[in-house]
Amino acid sequence: MTKLQDQLSLIKREQSGYPVQTVPIAEKLGLKVYKVSGWNDETSGMIRKDENDGGASGYAIYVNARHGPTRRRFTIAHEIGHFVLHESLIGDGIVEDALWRSRKLSSKIETQANAFAADLLMPWHLIELAKSRGLTEIEELAVAFEVSVEAMSYRLLGAQYYQGQNQKGSNNVQASAR
Ligand SMILES: [Zn+2]
Repeated sequence: MTKLQDQLSLIKREQSGYPVQTVPIAEKLGLKVYKVSGWNDETSGMIRKDENDGGASGYAIYVNARHGPTRRRFTIAHEIGHFVLHESLIGDGIVEDALWRSRKLSSKIETQANAFAADLLMPWHLIELAKSRGLTEIEELAVAFEVSVEAMSYRLLGAQYYQGQNQKGSNNVQASAR
C-alpha cells in the first residue's frame, strides 16, 4: 500500500462511531496538536514542521484556543487534510484565516482540504448510521457529529466547502442534486 492508502485506511478505522475524534487521528498520523492562546479571532490554525513541537511525522498542528470545539475540530481536520494531501506544499508552514484560507495556497487546494475535513468528520457511512437511529434533522446531526450546523448543511447538500471567493458570513455555496 502507498503511504496515502495507509493514511486513509488508518483514518477509516477511527471512523467507527460519531463524533469522529480528530486529535487521536492526528496523533496516529504522527502529528501533535496544540491549542494556542493569544491569537486573534481571524486565525483558525496552522500546520508546520517543527523539530521540537512536531510528532513522529515532524509536523505539528496549532488551533486557536479562542474558537469553540466545533471550529477547532474542523480546523484540525482541515490541517490533517493538508498533511495527507499536500505535504509537499506545507514548506515552512501554512496559516489559516477564519474561513480556513491561507495566503499561500490556492482556493482549489483549500477547497480540497475542506472537502477532506468534511469526509473525516462526517463520513457518509456514519451519517447513514445516525439517520437509521432516527437523527434526521440537520441540527441534531450537527450536534451528534460535533460540527457546525453550517458544515452539516453543506455536507448534506453536497456543496463545495467555503470556496476561496466566499466572503465571511456569506452562504455562497452551490448545492448539487443528490
Ligand atoms: Zn488550509
